[in-house]
Amino acid sequence: MSYRSTRSSEPQSVSFEEAVITGLATDGGLFIPAEVPKLPESFLKEWSGLSFEALAFNIMRFYIKQSEISDDELKTLIAKSYSTFRAKEVTPLVAIDSQKNLYLLELFHGPTYAFKDVALQFVGNLFEFFLTRKNAAKKAGESRDIITVVGATSGDTGSAAIYGLRNKKDVSVFILYPTGRISPLQEQQMASVLDDNIHTLSVKGTFDDCQDVVKKVFGDAEFNQKYHVGAVNSINWARILAQMTYYFHAYFQLLNKIPEAEKADFKVKFVVPSGNFGDILAGFYAKEMGLPIEELVVATNENDILDRFLHSGKYDKVEVKETYSPAMDICVSSNFERFLWYMIKRTNGGNDDLKTGAILAEYMKDLSSKGIFEVTPETLKLSQSVLDSARVSNEETVKTIKETYANTSNNYILDPHTAVGVTTSLRKIASDKDSNTKYISLSTAHPAKFSSVVNQALSGFSEYSFEKSVLPEELKKLASLPLKIKLVDNAELKTIESIIVEELAKEGKN
Ligand SMILES: *Cc1c(COP(=O)(O)O)cnc(C)c1O
Repeated sequence: MSYRSTRSSEPQSVSFEEAVITGLATDGGLFIPAEVPKLPESFLKEWSGLSFEALAFNIMRFYIKQSEISDDELKTLIAKSYSTFRAKEVTPLVAIDSQKNLYLLELFHGPTYAFKDVALQFVGNLFEFFLTRKNAAKKAGESRDIITVVGATSGDTGSAAIYGLRNKKDVSVFILYPTGRISPLQEQQMASVLDDNIHTLSVKGTFDDCQDVVKKVFGDAEFNQKYHVGAVNSINWARILAQMTYYFHAYFQLLNKIPEAEKADFKVKFVVPSGNFGDILAGFYAKEMGLPIEELVVATNENDILDRFLHSGKYDKVEVKETYSPAMDICVSSNFERFLWYMIKRTNGGNDDLKTGAILAEYMKDLSSKGIFEVTPETLKLSQSVLDSARVSNEETVKTIKETYANTSNNYILDPHTAVGVTTSLRKIASDKDSNTKYISLSTAHPAKFSSVVNQALSGFSEYSFEKSVLPEELKKLASLPLKIKLVDNAELKTIESIIVEELAKEGKN
């Protein structure tokens, strides 16, 4: 399988390795596979009893050439990546309300207790694999290839990247966050990782200041050339690929849970709390490959650009709002561009890759100059046939956490992101009124990571206590661990670059 950019009007053939290591195409577009593999129908029987790891292997094999990664190498990478998960199923499916046909797919059993681990554990091993191979081929005296990962975080992404890349050979990681503006638990999670290659920078300023200076580091061509600055953000193709596995795995887990008599007419809809559209995009690819998904539902918080688009055909950027589900606080959803490429290709793109790339490049130009673009009625209609959407307010988020706790026999506690999905699922169940339709709502984080909203929702219950009801032992221990934090008193390019150079020298890399 080779890859191409979503914005290109020229034929292209980029390797998997190049797509993963460079992240973004030179024309600013995102990498997509040259074609989406279609599975023969027999896979529904043949794959139904497979483990998470075996499914991951079968799926990834379609997207990575043997000549790039052999079967044995790919199996080793997958086994290593998911050995760090606490759950045997890796991403277990639990019935939350079997009467309503509502199930939760728990994606938070990785090292940082949020869904980004599913992808970043794999991406970290993949980076190391590619670098080790490159460096093994070097002659004596030639300098080693390194990657310097630089990123800004408002919480979740930073810790998942750190846990994915800790202790990886030839990779160094610099994560910037605004001092005092992330939760203590998130700070402890990142800064308690003491490996030499991990650098946690607490920067005086806002999240935007951090993000701006990171962009400047990427824009500094000379610096980039010397230190091979890399990103592991949500547009990296390997993240999307790794996430496809849990859609298949969830489908088969559900099939094994429901009574034999219900299997003939059963339909499944996935509801996904969305921000950058990376999580749900993996579901779109699974559906395209042939997994029988009836519908994919985008659940947004008050940052609702996707919900507004799916009603109007206008992709209209507005200011980002702070909500109770901060990992979904975005003003544009970067991965949506990949989905749109397919919708355009099948409508006014005339089934032509090059014409599709040209149309999409125009839309993206409009987005950056005018803050808005509008697709054709045909493209909108096709998009609506694949995706449904909903917008959920802060008040509804809290109410759903409260009601789920009260109405489940085991007092199930939702994190606020998952609650956005569950609110959407319950709305859909009420309007569908179809007992053959099963809902799988994706659970993207452990509630311990978002204590203030969870406490706000549940402190009225007399038996509830955050320490006893929510906080896992492993996270409790974080508070007493030593932390490695570099305090930085400004978000200037010069300051950040000199810290990177200094720390790389300490690691013996420059
Ligand atoms: C990143 C994140 C999301 C949003 O996922 P996207 O791929 O950006 O749509 C939802 N919930 C949590 C907890 C996250 O960390």
